[in-house]
Amino acid sequence: MTDYPKPPFASQQQAVPGDQSKMEPYPDCGENSYKGSGRLANKIALITGADSGIGRAVAIAFAREGADVAISYLDEHEDAKETARWVEEAGRQCILLPGDLAQKEQCSAIVNETVGKFGRIDVLVNNAAFQMTHKTLEEISDEEWVRTFDVNVHAMFRICKAALPHMKPGGSIINTSSVNSDMPNATLVPYAATKGAIANFTAGFAQMVAERGIRVNSVAPGPIWTPLIVSTMPDDQVKEFGKQTPLGRPGQPVEVAPIYVLLASDEASYISGSRYGVTGGKPIL
Ligand code: NAD
Ligand code: MG
Repeated sequence: MTDYPKPPFASQQQAVPGDQSKMEPYPDCGENSYKGSGRLANKIALITGADSGIGRAVAIAFAREGADVAISYLDEHEDAKETARWVEEAGRQCILLPGDLAQKEQCSAIVNETVGKFGRIDVLVNNAAFQMTHKTLEEISDEEWVRTFDVNVHAMFRICKAALPHMKPGGSIINTSSVNSDMPNATLVPYAATKGAIANFTAGFAQMVAERGIRVNSVAPGPIWTPLIVSTMPDDQVKEFGKQTPLGRPGQPVEVAPIYVLLASDEASYISGSRYGVTGGKPIL
C-alpha cells in the first residue's frame, strides 16, 4: 500500500488560485507512479483546471492511457507547463488554453481551439472551480456569489453546449462535483450549492444526450490535497485537512484520476447519469 501523507500539515497560506510548486508536501499527481495501458488510445480530451491538482492527475493519466490533451486553466502558467511536460513525455500532444472561464467567450474559445488543433473532442472534463470559505452570509459579496456560479456552473453549461457538436457517439463528459453536493459544509455555502447544481445537471443532461451515444457522469471527491485547499481555506483547516475521513488523511490527486479514466473509456459504455465518490471512506449513498 502506498504511504500517502497524513495531517498535521505545515501552515501555508497562498493567494487564489494557488501555485502547486509551493505546496508542502507536493501533491502527488501520479507523475512518478501512474501506469497506462492504452485504455484511451487516440482519444482527444479537453480538461478544465488541468494545470494542477485533480485536473493535472487526470491529464497525466489520460496521456499515459493514449489520449491527446487540451488543458484549460486560469493563469498558473508554470503549473500548466509542468502538466504539459508530463503529457508530452508520455508521447502525446498537449495545448495550453489560459483564460477566465467566467467569461462566456472563453468557454467557446477553449472548445474552438481544441477542435482547431485536434479536429474533435472525445472526452470533456469540466473540472475548474472557484471556492472561498466564509463564516457568515453577510461576508459573501453578491459579486463573489455570482462569480462562483459563473466559474463552476455557467461555464460547465457553456462548454458542454459548445463541445456537443464536436462529440461523436462514444463521447464522454465528466463533471467534477464534490461531497459538498449533498453534504454541504457550512463554511462553503456558495461553492456547495454549485456542486449540487453540477451533480443535478449531470444527471439530467445524461438522459438528454443518451440517444446521441454520449455519456455524462460526475465525480464527488472528498478532501484532496491541491492548491485549491491552501489558497482558500484558513490555516487551522489546512493543518488538519482530511483528518475527519475514515482513512484519516486527504486523498492525493493521483488517487482520484482512475475513476476519470474509467468514465472516459469505452469500458464504461453502460455507465451514465451517475455520481461517483472518492471520499477516503466517508460513505455517500
Ligand atoms: P486546483 O486548484 O488544482 O484546480 C482548480 C483549477 O481551476 C485551478 O488550477 C484553476 O486554473 C482553475 N480555475 C479556477 N478558476 C478559474 C477560472 N475563473 N477560469 C478558468 N479556470 C479556473 O484544485 P482541485 O482541488 O484539483 O480542483 C479541481 C476540482 O475538484 C474542482 O472542481 C474542485 O471543486 C473539485 N474538488 C476538490 C476537492 C478538494 O478537496 N481539493 C474536493 C471536492 C471537489
Ligand atoms: Mg491551479
